[in-house]
Amino acid sequence: SELISQIAAGEVIERPASVVKELVENSVDAGAMNIEVRVDGGGLKRIVVTDDGCGIPKEELPLALKRHATSKIRNLLDLENVATLGFRGEALASIDSVSAVTIQSRATGSERAWELSEGELVPSAGPQQGTRIEVRDLFYKTPARRKFMKSEATENAHVVAQLHRVALANPAVRFVLYQNGRQTFDLEAVETQDERIVALMPRAFEGGYRSVDREESGMRLTGLVGLPTLSKPKGDAQYLFVNGRFVRDRTCAHAVRQAYQDVLHGQAQPLYCLFLTVPAAEVDVNVHPTKTEVRFRNTQRIHSFVDRAVGETLAPPRT
Ligand code: ADP
Ligand code: MG
Repeated sequence: SELISQIAAGEVIERPASVVKELVENSVDAGAMNIEVRVDGGGLKRIVVTDDGCGIPKEELPLALKRHATSKIRNLLDLENVATLGFRGEALASIDSVSAVTIQSRATGSERAWELSEGELVPSAGPQQGTRIEVRDLFYKTPARRKFMKSEATENAHVVAQLHRVALANPAVRFVLYQNGRQTFDLEAVETQDERIVALMPRAFEGGYRSVDREESGMRLTGLVGLPTLSKPKGDAQYLFVNGRFVRDRTCAHAVRQAYQDVLHGQAQPLYCLFLTVPAAEVDVNVHPTKTEVRFRNTQRIHSFVDRAVGETLAPPRT
């Protein structure tokens, strides 16, 4: 029912930035190389995400808005693999239950684009290839939640932060953002993760940085760690991704802090953008996927690996 959908939506869709996250991640999943995001009124008025991905075939368009409809689980093995990535087939249905959604899409190999709006499927003029999803009047059906929204500036800041995270994890994709019709961000595609990190966090790494790449018994740590800088770095400069997902994690944060302390003796505050990859079995899948937390099976193992990897990267090479 609509009520159940709206309650479920509350779990996934907290604010406009959550919509942007879900739509942009779908675009990435669809293999898009170019993703354009338009946000009006902090996203409460309108959010439009356009991509050049594989598109949605006409017959699958009505399904896309149904709960538990996903094209991403082909078999049971898949189900185990995606379990860490998110509740499947919930996002679009949730968004649709608390806003007005229009989807236009032209699937690869399809003759033309189709549009789904208010349950009607009609031929559409665009896009040429890929998908355009427009979300209007977010939370107009749930005024109680709308009341919790902060100022337009605050919602915009959340949108940008959310987009930065997806962009950091997907360097080969170009991201463009318009806020109230004004282009505020054009992030070109780059070859490496490190290039994308520097492009997004130039201030944090202006004092210099080292590139991390360590591997140990199935675990891998990549990304950048900042070296001591004279000026106080501005902005959010502590990013951690676990298996491609942005998280806040005390264990890893502590391990990085400890490595900085051991090697640089408090001369530098930890500045980092790190990507930790661990076997799926090392991560507890029962933590809610839209929340920015993770639970490791063996915390000590992760801590000691991250501590060592960052420490060895920061330490001056022995001669
Ligand atoms: P999920 O991503 O978990 O499958 P969603 O509710 O986010 O669930 O999306 C439902 C389905 O709609 C996806 O499985 C996919 O088939 C389709 N879809 C959504 N957005 C896009 C997009 N931008 N390009 C191609 N297909 C999409
Ligand atoms: Mg999705």
